[in-house]
Amino acid sequence: MLNGKLALITGSTSGIGLAIARALAAQHARIILNGFGDPAEIERIRAEIAQQSGVEVHYESADMSRAGDIEAMISRIHARHGAIDVLVNNAGIQHVAPIESFPAERWDSVIAINLSSAFHTIRCALPAMRERGWGRIINIASAHGLVASAEKVAYVAAKHGIVGVTKVVALETARTGVTCNAICPGWVLTPLVQKQIDARAAAGGLTVDQARVGLLAEKQPSHEFVTPEQLGEIAVFLCSPAANQVRGAAWTVDGGWTAQ
Ligand code: NAD
Repeated sequence: MLNGKLALITGSTSGIGLAIARALAAQHARIILNGFGDPAEIERIRAEIAQQSGVEVHYESADMSRAGDIEAMISRIHARHGAIDVLVNNAGIQHVAPIESFPAERWDSVIAINLSSAFHTIRCALPAMRERGWGRIINIASAHGLVASAEKVAYVAAKHGIVGVTKVVALETARTGVTCNAICPGWVLTPLVQKQIDARAAAGGLTVDQARVGLLAEKQPSHEFVTPEQLGEIAVFLCSPAANQVRGAAWTVDGGWTAQ
């Protein structure tokens, strides 16, 4: 379906971003991976996706907390591979602490990576999408883009912020072939959430299994994790012609979390 299109997925060396990259590659989009990790492991992932899907897969190491890195990355992609057709803003980090003891530098990094990076990628990538009359911008927000939890002040602020960015960009592109939407997942079992399960186990004297069950039961009525693969398929749907008029949505995929 996406033959020849070029997709940049930020934070795609792990978890949700990696699954979205695999799903877009399976639709024959050319892929630009981004994110941190062991260079040998990143190269293994890059080669594996290329081999499985038969598409070009490249890797960009830009640090999404730095506006200069992001601008340089998008210019480099334009020069080497052409315009970006599908932009998935997915890179994200978490920090859990009450506001009084929330380190100011962690606030800055969460806001930079989870929110400001999308402002920079969109402002740099959108002109070429407009010129070509087609584009898909998909922002990976969260249930925390719609409701809050205690001790996640920066994350909740960033995720509410990205839902706002999504709506503004959707309005500014409403008369074009470019759409902008957010996906709002509930709990997905990735390294970002495993850290929170481990912290919960340590704090409550629980086994990791007990902590995992407790974490799900507290927020997610289905008591089941959302899978990265399910989110990959939703990203593919948002790229399809059926989604041409899906604009400015904050699509929950949260096992009923925000229905409560
Ligand atoms: P993850 O930790 O598995 O992946 C995060 C990715 O972001 C990694 O590739 C990492 O290298 C990259 N990254 C982190 N900082 C970066 C930086 N400065 N520059 C470039 N890349 C950077 O986490 P995940 O759970 O897959 O999270 C992906 C997105 O999904 C995040 O935006 C997260 O907030 C969101 N999300 C996750 C869940 C969940 O339950 N896991 C739920 C809702 C939303």
